[in-house]
Amino acid sequence: MTQLHSVPDAATAGQLTDKFGRQITDLRVSVTDRCNFRCVYCRSANPENHMAEHNLLSWDELGRLARILVGLGIKKVRVTGGEPLVRPGVEEFIARLRALGVPDISLTTNGQLLAERCERLIAAGLNRINISLDSLDRAKFDKITRTRSFDRVMAGIDAAQASPLRPVKVNAVLVRGLNDDEVEAFAAFARERDLIMRFIEFMPLDADRAWTRDLFVPAEEVRRRIEARWPMVPIAHERSETARKYRFTDGRGEIGLIAPVSQPFCGFCSRVRLTADGKLRTCLFSKDDHDLKGLLRGGASDQEIIGEIRGIVMEKEAGHRINEPDFVPPSRTMVYIGG
Ligand code: SAM
Ligand code: SF4
Repeated sequence: MTQLHSVPDAATAGQLTDKFGRQITDLRVSVTDRCNFRCVYCRSANPENHMAEHNLLSWDELGRLARILVGLGIKKVRVTGGEPLVRPGVEEFIARLRALGVPDISLTTNGQLLAERCERLIAAGLNRINISLDSLDRAKFDKITRTRSFDRVMAGIDAAQASPLRPVKVNAVLVRGLNDDEVEAFAAFARERDLIMRFIEFMPLDADRAWTRDLFVPAEEVRRRIEARWPMVPIAHERSETARKYRFTDGRGEIGLIAPVSQPFCGFCSRVRLTADGKLRTCLFSKDDHDLKGLLRGGASDQEIIGEIRGIVMEKEAGHRINEPDFVPPSRTMVYIGG
């Protein structure tokens, strides 16, 4: 890997702000579109084409863009994919982010490779982790992920909880008729394990285009069902946070409800996304993405790239349009964007 350049001073470079005055402080970086799972709500059962290696940004290219973006005021970076742990070199990339002085570095993973990688990730500078777990029932887990990795994912959660990584968040995407019968079991899991259990509404970003409105489980329904069993109180959250958070009045554990469909949180959105092939996206549901790879490979200077990024961010959408009658899902699905 090449040497890092110095980070431009944010005060002189200027922060990233869109035309609605929202300040952009969070970056989600997808480092690969490959994945060792085929979750039914994300990927297709059929073999899909992965992007050719040369189309992906190299670690040096990702590192350069991260440096530029950090110079523009990015404070949180989440490394994601596809499955980020299948691309060799993630730990080194996290170490680069740490060297850039990013205050908050997190990783979203399906957990399959986590147990054996946890220590190295922490040594590299990882602060926080989100692990996906869509069922506590082995057979159902296999059906959803189209793998037999339940024990390995549970071992990954164990490793994360035994490590200094905090908080440990476990994410479940609820799909009606598939795993929505497990809401109470997941809440009990959060209580027993003293972790943050987050429920994500299924979004129209699946490869099979099977999403329909009756398949997503509204966050309010989840809250009501859990509260019927265990009283909860809301926890204060930052305006830009995606999750509404609750703690139990009588015990450990926390619940997070992420409701992009039923209660969109676009008004305070502080995020941009960089795809593994070098496109900047200002919304999960953007119709267009913006190519930065061409600039990087065409010899553009940092100042030229900064100018391009500012222009892209300025045009960030007011919000997504999932609930509009003329909504059309983006051509890129979740695995090619990075969640
Ligand atoms: N492979 C890693 C994982 O599964 O945690 C990281 C990438 S995955 C695309 C990031 C997050 O997006 C996961 O929490 C996953 O459950 C979520 N996700 C994928 N497809 C989704 C969909 N159609 N609706 C809502 N969330 C989705
Ligand atoms: Fe892979 Fe994550 Fe998509 Fe599941 S949700 S298929 S683990 S990228």
